[in-house]
Amino acid sequence: MAVKSVALVAHDNKKEELVQWVTDNNTRFSPLKLYATGTTGRLLGERLKRDDINVLLSGPLGGDQQIGAMIAEGKIDLLVFFWDPLEPQPHDPDIKALLRIAALWNIPVASNRATAEFILTSAYMTDDKHSPQRPDFSYYTQRKI
Ligand code: PGA
Repeated sequence: MAVKSVALVAHDNKKEELVQWVTDNNTRFSPLKLYATGTTGRLLGERLKRDDINVLLSGPLGGDQQIGAMIAEGKIDLLVFFWDPLEPQPHDPDIKALLRIAALWNIPVASNRATAEFILTSAYMTDDKHSPQRPDFSYYTQRKI
């Protein structure tokens, strides 16, 4: 079975919640390949004592866009993105772009702990037969304009 790749992002007010949730589910997370934006990734690495987390740029510095590009390239199976519904972010356009590209490419997205819990415990995580279908957009570049 292919190892699932999970991207983890949390806004500042949600970082502790995300790090605690991942720590609480360490057994399920340990076989997974993890990617995270800069500060989220650093905190996860420190708490989980894992040095194999792929830490990207900080979200406002381009990290959200890096994850979006990886989703478009088919390199991410799940996006856990605890975004903050109470605070505007300087990189709102990047956040919207990331959520858009995840919807486009049919990637499961968890924006809170309850959803993340459902996804992490689903058959999808351990059984390739349940993997979501990657859309075929080949028609898109062939369209007449
Ligand atoms: P950070 O980025 O993990 O570097 O704080 C997250 C974000 O704000 O998108």
